[in-house]
Amino acid sequence: MEKKKLSCPAGHGEMKLTHKKKHMTFKGVDIDYPVNCFVCPTCGLEASTLTQAADIQKSMADAYRKKVGLMTGSEITEGRKRKNLSQEKLANLMKIGIASIKRWEAGIIQSKSMNKMLVQALSGESCGDSLTGNRSLSIPRIKLSLRHLEKFMDMKILKENDRMLYAAKYMWYIDMETYRETGQSVTGATYASLPMGPQLNNYKDLVAEIIKAPEKQAEPLTEEEKLIIEKVACAFPTTRQVYDASHREVVWKEKSAGQFIPYSDAFRLTEL
Ligand SMILES: [Zn+2]
Repeated sequence: MEKKKLSCPAGHGEMKLTHKKKHMTFKGVDIDYPVNCFVCPTCGLEASTLTQAADIQKSMADAYRKKVGLMTGSEITEGRKRKNLSQEKLANLMKIGIASIKRWEAGIIQSKSMNKMLVQALSGESCGDSLTGNRSLSIPRIKLSLRHLEKFMDMKILKENDRMLYAAKYMWYIDMETYRETGQSVTGATYASLPMGPQLNNYKDLVAEIIKAPEKQAEPLTEEEKLIIEKVACAFPTTRQVYDASHREVVWKEKSAGQFIPYSDAFRLTEL
């Protein structure tokens, strides 16, 4: 059980449970949000219990979402219940994992495009696209992701006249993992199962285009996307490792040559 009382660390005795409004700039947006915390009546020091700290995070996220026109956690929960949808049913309508719904309801902020899909799904429409991972193909974003990976690994992975033998595997893991975490791929790329492993669909035509793509015009990678790219880099520090791992994945092995690997398979990956 969490303590219901806190004492001031400066020795002023019991702190007082206080409800107050806070103001801050969050992701560049000014927000006001209510919090519950303990305040020392003598020195004014503030402290919060673990539960309060979690509630404060949620309160900030909701104030931000309200301000920028995204659904808040409780709006998602209520909207879902009004339509008699379980978290799982809503996830199925959007072709994403139940974990994403849980995260958004608990206070993690959804992207604008996922919010648009949430609104559609809550009106009962089926809207997800599990071949592109709920995003339209962005070749500049493929380049942006691979460049971030190369910088982090200090290694050249995207090469001219290359068949993307390794670049495609890294990209596949990055897209799949980001989809699993956020409900949306990074690049919108479609992947097929080829004898040499998971591969970007139409990779032969794509390589030259990726290399000359104007990455500065692409929607910048989010912090979360960058972290996932770094996580994939750490999981597979050599090209051999990413190649071998992808060949151990059931979702690749079970497909016949040329068959698409949908993003819904992201929940069945075993190597990451
Ligand atoms: Zn004090």
